[in-house]
Amino acid sequence: MKNRVIPTMTRAEKIRFWKRVNKNGPVPAHRPDLGPCWLWMLKRGEPCDGYGSFKFRGQRFMAHRIAVRLVRGRIRLLWDPDHLCLLKCCVNPDHIEEVPHGVNVRRGVLARDGGEKSSAPAVALGFSDSFAVGMRLKGRGL
Ligand SMILES: [Zn+2]
Repeated sequence: MKNRVIPTMTRAEKIRFWKRVNKNGPVPAHRPDLGPCWLWMLKRGEPCDGYGSFKFRGQRFMAHRIAVRLVRGRIRLLWDPDHLCLLKCCVNPDHIEEVPHGVNVRRGVLARDGGEKSSAPAVALGFSDSFAVGMRLKGRGL
């Protein structure tokens, strides 16, 4: 499901998708600058537990990947969408940074070792500047 190509959605599909999003979610305590999370709601009306998913045209896709695709117009298939807010059910594209898989893994290791996940810029994690091109490093001191 993760790296499935997301087809261009029709207007009706987009409407059905955004109906499931609650844009008045919590503001992450560790990153208040990000603003509120957009919660992916279950059909029974509560936020999902873990990553949300959305089914259309007979296939299931990760909801946060669809949101990135719809808002930014594209999503990198081979990179990981990393939740800066740490809330898996959030689909706010402003909270999702696409990073090479190695960066995502390294951030997870840092978090496990007591650091704060997602706080380390890709360059600081040993990735060259070229990796940073196109990445959203705004506000990360780079
Ligand atoms: Zn969020």
